[in-house]
Amino acid sequence: MPEHDYAYIIVGGGLAGASAVEGIREMDESGSVLLIGNENHLPYHRPPLSKQLWLGKKQVGEILIHDRQFYDKSNVTLSLGTEVAGIEPDKKTVRSAAGKTYHFGKLLLATGGMPRRLSVPGSDLDGICYYRFLDDYLRIRKDAVEGKSALVVGGGFIGSEIAAAFAANRVAVTMIFPEPYLCNRVFPYQALGRQMRIEHWDNALNQGKQAGRNMAGAGEAFTYMPYFFSDLFEFGYEAVGEVSADLETFADWQKENDTGVIYYLKDRKVRGVMMCNVWEKVEAARALIRRGEQVTPEDLRGVIR
Ligand SMILES: Cc1cc2nc3c(=O)[nH]c(=O)nc-3n(C[C@H](O)[C@H](O)[C@H](O)COP(=O)(O)OP(=O)(O)OC[C@H]3O[C@@H](n4cnc5c(N)ncnc54)[C@H](O)[C@@H]3O)c2cc1C
Repeated sequence: MPEHDYAYIIVGGGLAGASAVEGIREMDESGSVLLIGNENHLPYHRPPLSKQLWLGKKQVGEILIHDRQFYDKSNVTLSLGTEVAGIEPDKKTVRSAAGKTYHFGKLLLATGGMPRRLSVPGSDLDGICYYRFLDDYLRIRKDAVEGKSALVVGGGFIGSEIAAAFAANRVAVTMIFPEPYLCNRVFPYQALGRQMRIEHWDNALNQGKQAGRNMAGAGEAFTYMPYFFSDLFEFGYEAVGEVSADLETFADWQKENDTGVIYYLKDRKVRGVMMCNVWEKVEAARALIRRGEQVTPEDLRGVIR
């Protein structure tokens, strides 16, 4: 027999899980909610783990998605530090690794992703960190000081950002990655009318909330167009839509390779927009993509600044 009964159970205490709580509460003020997460922290934002925390722009206490009061006021039970080890859909139960069972009316799996582990000898040696969690940050932050050196394996956006963070803290960094350029595979997905895999912050925020609303009966399609962002030293960008190297591009630089907007076109229509050091224009970019008008690159000059 399950020990506890909840109208909604969310497995995964990340951004999608925390956003699902908001979605549920938008639709259902009182149904009982249990959020189970295996980390020992309240749900927090991960992007600062490779950026602001290293640059003194944020402290650990400032990266929480919500403080504890929010969950108390929303009447949400938190079970942190709890690993879910099994689900029995027929019985509508989940089981924790410690052997507790919980009965659910609706269940959301918001368990996120994990870094790919290297399958080479020695890949589990001490001193190797597969970087994803706040505990990883807390563990390596104290060792990452001037005079130390670090090897970063992987040249995607997290590898590149963490290398920049080390460098900013005067740690000597060497990077190893198989692609010809940094962030070569940062934009692998295809948007607009196709299936796509998106692993970015804004998607977790909005898709999590939508999942919560739909658990509570909203029945709405998820049509949101997420954006993503990254910061490397003084260079930051936000991008939305299909930003694939296969598309025709038009770069409208205000300052060459530093400040400007890159448009990605297919059949003369804007499919994606990447804004480099140009901020708060994501909505304008979404509107341009949605309009789907045929344009020439010259029509686009100055459209987003
Ligand atoms: C260092 C770093 C920097 C990033 N920077 C950016 C950025 O600049 N821009 C951007 O767009 N995105 C960025 N991201 C990606 C962004 O953080 C993710 O898109 C977001 O965290 C996804 O949220 P999620 O809730 O889906 O998954 P997660 O954040 O992975 O959360 C899932 C949670 O579920 C828990 N869990 C998993 N299995 C179980 C289980 N069996 N039982 C209980 N709990 C479980 C996990 O431990 C985790 O706490 C970054 C990610 C990292 C790691």
